[in-house]
Amino acid sequence: MKAVVQKYGGSSVASAEKILNVARQIEKKIKKGYKLIIVVSAMGKTTDGLIKLAKEITSNPNPRELDMLLTTGEQISVSLLSMAIQSFGYKSKSLNAFQAGIKTTENFNEAKIKSFNKKRILTLLKSNDVLVVTGFQGITDEGELTTLGRGGSDTSAVALAAALGFNCEIYSDVAGIYTIDPRLHPGAKKIKNISYDEMLEMASLGAKVLHSRSVEIAKKFGITIYCGSTFSDEEGSYVMAGSKIIEQPSVTGCSIMENQAQVFIKNIPVDYNLIKKLFEKVALEGLNVDMISIINTGNNLEVSFTIVEEKKKHLEAALKKVFRGLGKWQIVYHTGFVKLSVVGIGMRSGIGVAASFFKAMKKIPIKLVTTSEIAISCLIENQYKPEAVKAIAREFKL
Ligand code: ASP
Ligand code: MG
Repeated sequence: MKAVVQKYGGSSVASAEKILNVARQIEKKIKKGYKLIIVVSAMGKTTDGLIKLAKEITSNPNPRELDMLLTTGEQISVSLLSMAIQSFGYKSKSLNAFQAGIKTTENFNEAKIKSFNKKRILTLLKSNDVLVVTGFQGITDEGELTTLGRGGSDTSAVALAAALGFNCEIYSDVAGIYTIDPRLHPGAKKIKNISYDEMLEMASLGAKVLHSRSVEIAKKFGITIYCGSTFSDEEGSYVMAGSKIIEQPSVTGCSIMENQAQVFIKNIPVDYNLIKKLFEKVALEGLNVDMISIINTGNNLEVSFTIVEEKKKHLEAALKKVFRGLGKWQIVYHTGFVKLSVVGIGMRSGIGVAASFFKAMKKIPIKLVTTSEIAISCLIENQYKPEAVKAIAREFKL
């Protein structure tokens, strides 16, 4: 059986007309002799709307109830798309997480996929041309509805492809993966092939192309993800094993993470157990911190790191618990930063990337720099973003 998993994002199914357009794309593939499993997101900004609605009821919605609410979004889009495919004369069936047996862990709002009812899915696929499956959602062993975290339908699609051994194609309103977000740098080039590691690094550093967990799964199972446009036949990008990519530039892309705050925690007694507790708590609260530095002044420890601005309050509440009873510790925020990163697996072997990076950035006051094996990141003030992006694009021919 020739079969493929395709995923269509929210903007691709934002209206009845767009849903019919997606059905037409699917028809092309059916005519080539494929069976299809289609994973879809909720229509347009439905999920945002549902979250907003919940927040109008309470500032802190119960996670289980929130998932009960959010999972309705995808149920709307799968049924409509299935109707559209049927209206073109093909056999299609929509399935929600319960019907496809998408089992997940129990953590509401951030659940992880454990398994699918493969037997049921394959049996249904035999008697249909297309199955349309809800992305982003699952059920626990107890039958509770869960969601996988924002943007999670990419992960649903790749996990399904991995479980069934099918290829995976992800369609959205952009035709692939670009060296820099084209909204920031209109001259950005499309990347034909990008390795899993680069894609993961780009995603964690601010590029909003694919849900990171989908790339982790693809890497684990060696699945190539094709990212293309729903609205054009323009060739997209492939996310694949780095070893398969023949030409490897030292820098593949540049990503920007907006709204960064630098947090300084001062006057901590010199007790590294407190530092351990601090970062344990931060992890437990699911707070993502980065660019960590610790200075021992002799009398005190001073810790600093970056965090997205909107998490300031959450962080502060967590820190109060860790440092309760400690007299004079103090927290200071500096806001209005962006983190700019260049990423490339070619850095592993290439020499001189740092030199080129600092050459490009020579006119820009850099606050902090961190590096990984395949990335260099720096923290700069917002106002320098356009200039920095331009300089980096020029230097690395992005
Ligand atoms: N509809 C969900 C969201 O907006 C899942 C997704 O789009 O991937 O986050
Ligand atoms: Mg998405």
